[in-house]
Amino acid sequence: MSKFLSSRFAGLEAYVPGEQPQDQQYVKLNTNESPFPPSPAVFAAINEAEVGRLNLYPDPEGKALKQRLAAFYDVKPENLFLANGSDELLNFFFMAFCDKDRPVAFPAVSYGFYPVYASLYGVPACPIPLRENFRLEPRDYMGIGKNIVIANPNAPTGRTITVAEIEDIVRTNPDNAVLIDEAYIDFGGDSCLELVHQYDNLVVGQTFSKFRSLAGGRLGYGVGSPGIIADLELMKFSTNSYNINRLTMAAGIATLDSHEYYLNNSRTVQDNRAYTVSELDKLGFETLPSKANFIFTRCKAVDGDTIYRKLKEKGVLVRHWNKPEIADWCRVTIGSRAQMDVFLEKVREILKEAGQDA
Ligand code: PMP
Repeated sequence: MSKFLSSRFAGLEAYVPGEQPQDQQYVKLNTNESPFPPSPAVFAAINEAEVGRLNLYPDPEGKALKQRLAAFYDVKPENLFLANGSDELLNFFFMAFCDKDRPVAFPAVSYGFYPVYASLYGVPACPIPLRENFRLEPRDYMGIGKNIVIANPNAPTGRTITVAEIEDIVRTNPDNAVLIDEAYIDFGGDSCLELVHQYDNLVVGQTFSKFRSLAGGRLGYGVGSPGIIADLELMKFSTNSYNINRLTMAAGIATLDSHEYYLNNSRTVQDNRAYTVSELDKLGFETLPSKANFIFTRCKAVDGDTIYRKLKEKGVLVRHWNKPEIADWCRVTIGSRAQMDVFLEKVREILKEAGQDA
């Protein structure tokens, strides 16, 4: 830290993203990316002509992409906010709606960026403990009179709540902004997107990073009432008017044009998820029910940190947090069948080495 850093940030601890090793080839199951490349339409869209226009700024309003997204979800362009990854949507949500007098509540075990944004903007954070088996109890959020951020499916647990439960939370906090972070909604969950037509305090966040194989393109979006979206636009146009680059905009449109391709990939991921869970069951692991492209699992015989470290030594990256309430657990992204077979083979080796015959 230099002497120049504003005292506002004295206690700020940055979010630590999952490892992105650039040197060694790992079976990479640690940051919930898709194992599948973007669709052929995306390759065609990032063409020479588009690259040739990189001397020009992109459309700051993202009209073409918004129109395509609006048609896709049967909403109006005024219901849509485009973000540089859904992390940027989160950033603008905290910036726009939370402050020292408007605290924010979120599950105590959830996406690690929520407390970081709270700290960045000096917002009191109210982490709400999960119940048994990391279950989120909707009543813990009903009528609490605070802004609320909930990931559904939750990360890193993969567990979901229903649209009716989300509606209860949104309806009973009418004077507060609620963000439902649906980064992982397309792997078997039910989106609450339709609720934005009834509730002006709801923002639904989604991303192109997971289901749509575009993590490297950085494209996310929020859906909400025109008023709440206008507030997010105010933040964006006061921060960076050109937050979505030209190539990503083109890739986004092409992605929406090839929805079938991605649906098919999601079915494969869901099949691989069921397969991986059943194989882990046989090895004595306990795995939470997941509707995401990852699972949260623990081994009864070997602790989470050891599993994580030994897998890494063997060339497989998964995610592990040294936080007491989840230290037993590892989050494993669901990749291709071949990747999951390598993961399972290495797990079997680790159990053998620990004297636990698989
Ligand atoms: N929300 C949750 C719950 C996530 O796990 C992630 C991915 N780390 C994000 C949002 C952000 O994803 P992106 O910025 O790539 O859209």
